Amino acid sequence: EYILEAVDLCKYFKAGRKQYVKAVDHVNIRMRHGETLGLVGESGCGKTTTGRTMIRLYEPTSGKILFEGQDISKLKGKELLHFKKNVQIIFQDPYASLDPRMTIGEIISEGMDVHMKLSEEEKEKRVNDLLRKVGLNTEYANRFAHELSGGQRQRIGIARALAVEPKFIVCDEPISALDVSIQAQVVNLLMKLQREMGLTYLFISHDLSMIQHISDRVGVMYLGSIVELAPEKTIYSASKHPYTQALISAIPVADPEADTEKDRIKLEGEVPSPLNPPSGCKFRTRCRYATERCAAEAPVLREVEPDHFVACHLCE
Ligand code: SF4
Repeated sequence: EYILEAVDLCKYFKAGRKQYVKAVDHVNIRMRHGETLGLVGESGCGKTTTGRTMIRLYEPTSGKILFEGQDISKLKGKELLHFKKNVQIIFQDPYASLDPRMTIGEIISEGMDVHMKLSEEEKEKRVNDLLRKVGLNTEYANRFAHELSGGQRQRIGIARALAVEPKFIVCDEPISALDVSIQAQVVNLLMKLQREMGLTYLFISHDLSMIQHISDRVGVMYLGSIVELAPEKTIYSASKHPYTQALISAIPVADPEADTEKDRIKLEGEVPSPLNPPSGCKFRTRCRYATERCAAEAPVLREVEPDHFVACHLCE
């Protein structure tokens, strides 16, 4: 049923002699075959680190990662390489993620050299097929990244990710560096490719409208933890965590009259420093429902209704 699972996953970064930033703090996510799970939250909440740790771009500090039921958290050498063929990433910045000295053909085929044994002819054919798949002319194979627009570069980033026939892709804010006019094209391309190739996406973004558009389920992160995880419709119409409710209430509405009637929940203050998070519930310094218990005891992510998980004492 699950393609990739993070079980109690932690990723801590050392900051100073005795301090750690708990970028990913006991995260549990189970990705289903062929779904898109959107991961949202303010900057610095650990979305990107979660995605990168799940595909072992970062080494987990503790916890497990299961790929199709097999624990891959400690794999090394050839076995790790085999896992890496199945999981890819599309990076946020299409300007920084493509090597300016390589042709587009070389960039796309780089992963094939590592993971597939193909002749030059087979490789060239595959590069051309991939370029067509992402909506580009095969002549682009001989060009360089600096000759391309942002949208074209991100299409190359997508072709590069698809080159080794992965099953799971982390889409790490893939549209946030693009013009608004191009964003929808890239998202629609990702959705089309998912349908055609049966891909599973972890789609990271701070854009709640885009997450609503693309996701089957949505996970909400705050200071390194998942605070709510549910189907997209539940998150947008029946969320239970006070943080999710505040995020959803802040989504701009196109109709200005409807917008004025909307009951916005204002989040007071900034996200606390991840070096020194509050005790108990990490959201308590900004939560209007916080009680003494919230300062003393961290809530655990629990299934409060079928397929709806919330970490809040109010929901127990
Ligand atoms: Fe607010 Fe307490 Fe729930 Fe945390 S556990 S979200 S502080 S009510």
